[in-house]
Amino acid sequence: MISRIKGTNDIIEDSRIWEWLEGKLKNVALNFGFIETRTPIFEATELFNRSVGNETDIVQKEMYTFEDKGNRSITLRPEGTAPVMRAFIENNLLSKGLPQKLFYYGPMFRYERPQAGRMRQFHQFGVELIGSPLPIADAMTILLAIEMLKAIGLDKFKLKINSTGDEKCRPNYVEALKAYYKPFFNDLCDDCRVRYDRNVLRLLDCKKDAKYAENAPKITDYLCHDCKVHFDKLRKYLDEMEIEYEVDPSIVRGLDYYTRTVFEFKYPSLGAQDAIGGGGRYDRLIEELGGPKIPSIGFAFGIERLILALEEEGKLPKAEDLDVYIVSIDEDQRIEALKVASALSRYFKVDVDVMGRNVKGQFSYASKENARYTVVIGEEEIRTGLYTLKNMKTGEQSKVRLSEMIKEINGAK
Ligand code: AMP
Repeated sequence: MISRIKGTNDIIEDSRIWEWLEGKLKNVALNFGFIETRTPIFEATELFNRSVGNETDIVQKEMYTFEDKGNRSITLRPEGTAPVMRAFIENNLLSKGLPQKLFYYGPMFRYERPQAGRMRQFHQFGVELIGSPLPIADAMTILLAIEMLKAIGLDKFKLKINSTGDEKCRPNYVEALKAYYKPFFNDLCDDCRVRYDRNVLRLLDCKKDAKYAENAPKITDYLCHDCKVHFDKLRKYLDEMEIEYEVDPSIVRGLDYYTRTVFEFKYPSLGAQDAIGGGGRYDRLIEELGGPKIPSIGFAFGIERLILALEEEGKLPKAEDLDVYIVSIDEDQRIEALKVASALSRYFKVDVDVMGRNVKGQFSYASKENARYTVVIGEEEIRTGLYTLKNMKTGEQSKVRLSEMIKEINGAK
């Protein structure tokens, strides 16, 4: 037997949950005036090297990169922002004016060690608000994320925010961090010793070396005037909208392109993989990808983790029952049953026998599927056009025409 690849999942019975979730998130994004972008799932490797950053874990260790038959280096997208920004530049969306409000949904690929809530193929729903440097754009983006979490009914999440500064103030902070970590260098984990030179900010969110992070210098003490004003305004806006948050200096995010605001939604009871979503501002990314200097901000939710969190809160939608099962007395009525099913399917969830079961077998199948109604079709029903409609809950039966049947079933909904 050929099995699925480690770290991937088949979504079969849960597909209705996924559809429901995607629909809810999409609806909020559309109501805020965002439009969907669908970009390819693979891109030139260079796109991620330049955006996510050569020194990040994603680029160093986690990308699915291969050469295609034309000897091009291709990578399965590990995240959605860089592809959307590539599409923004390539399709000259700037000519349509700013802001551009885009969202995306789909599979992402990272070669990570699989565990609960961590997959090699996982799915993200993400949003990008392109064009504004103002903290009100940060506030809108965070508000949008909160509205999405509310729309799906999640309560027990926590919003953590931080500022990672900009090209003016971050270098000073990087120096301060390096000076702080230097005496512990030999005690750091293998990864952190490499990160020390390449990307020292990442030492702050290393789980193994968390004890050192506690007393590390805080970026918020190193912000330049402009970054500080930006962060203070964002906090004021969040306060005014009564959005609860915590400023957490260890939130640095694993991608290089962030500037200023970064944020994460945590769901503490999920354990080690407790980030259900995250995002931030990326004021230099479009420029670094060869476009004009356009400041932007965005975030992505991890769908698998949202589902785990919804499960925790008992908020997953229940399976919808069958509305009507059409029972045919014998073989001669099967095609009539199919015709009735076809008429009713325009209004209801219907089913009809395709296994050649006898009447008893069809009724027990209808009960197993929790059908609300059954319609029985025999010779007499075909002759008179009056069908026996049975309410499976009350046991009540009536003889009705097709048009009346639609009204009656609808009335009971
Ligand atoms: P990131 O931009 O890496 O923070 O990813 C955004 C969100 O995607 C995270 O908060 C997670 O919810 C989800 N995510 C990231 N990596 C994985 C993974 N390997 N498996 C499942 N979900 C993931």
